[in-house]
Amino acid sequence: MLDNKNVKLIDGKKIAAEIKKEIAAEVKRMEAEGKRCPHLAAVLVGEDGASKTYVASKEKASNEVGFTSSVYRYPATITEEELLSAIDFLNNDNEIDGFIIQLPLPKHINESRIIEAISPKKDVDGFNPVNVGKMILGFSTFLPATPFGIQMLLERSNIETEGKHCVVLGRSNIVGTPMANMLSRNASNANCTVTLCHSKTKNLAEITRQADILIVAVGKPYFVKADMVKEGVVIIDVGIHRVDDSTSEKGYKIVGDVDFDNVASKCSYISPVPGGVGPMTIVSLLSNTLKAYRENVNK
Ligand code: NAP
Repeated sequence: MLDNKNVKLIDGKKIAAEIKKEIAAEVKRMEAEGKRCPHLAAVLVGEDGASKTYVASKEKASNEVGFTSSVYRYPATITEEELLSAIDFLNNDNEIDGFIIQLPLPKHINESRIIEAISPKKDVDGFNPVNVGKMILGFSTFLPATPFGIQMLLERSNIETEGKHCVVLGRSNIVGTPMANMLSRNASNANCTVTLCHSKTKNLAEITRQADILIVAVGKPYFVKADMVKEGVVIIDVGIHRVDDSTSEKGYKIVGDVDFDNVASKCSYISPVPGGVGPMTIVSLLSNTLKAYRENVNK
């Protein structure tokens, strides 16, 4: 329960809805000019339930903003060569502006080889090494969806980042590592002093207690406890976990990496789970697709 009225909840749902509205308005404007809509495609391999849900929400969000969306479904038995030729087709279809390969892929497929095969111009997930390199150098590129969404959350919540000590907990390629890079750059909504922590970090709580902004992507429910943060900290909770809850009709609830009930009262701002980072990740993908579209139609 949130018992401190000075704590502000970072409303990812509301911010995501605002951005979607802006994207939809731009699509309408382009339609009025007689242009085709942006087109986002997704590749779904196999029958993994979570992957199917993620792809369905990306498709729904695309349709909501007026994009064309298509899903290319393949059985889990698809070979690496077959998947590479599917990617080749998408790379060369001029009517498709951007596409994503929903991860994880079946074990017999080399994920790095697949990611490298995506044309950097259509890599709206921002995972291709060319785009990762551009991000590190601060060039214009497709920023990886979750950190991009977090940066927009901070910006639209008017949270000052310049000169702040930002501690990022977790160093995955899709969240922690790009987040640390993006916030340390000499750029607006960045300019933080960043510490990146991981499972081999010693005296973790001593470091997290120094954070003005704490970004938690550790993948463990309730990991960050009240004694690990200082008063007034800004917390962005990236984690998503389903935990048993006998009081809920469904028998479970969704929680984050932060022990929200005991930590929130110490924060100046905190993003809840659900309704914080999650909605922003999809919106970032839409923003990247719009960017890919503009570059594609104006080339
Ligand atoms: P991940 O690949 O599992 O990475 C977890 C990171 O946490 C690793 O760097 C790991 O360190 C570190 N870690 C693990 N235990 C630790 C400990 N005891 N102390 C310090 N560091 C520790 O996770 P991810 O893909 O970044 O995802 C993190 C969470 O965010 C998950 O719950 C995931 O479901 C969620 N997520 C949400 C969204 C969204 O849109 N909301 C998007 C992506 C992910 P090592 O590198 O040393 O192993």
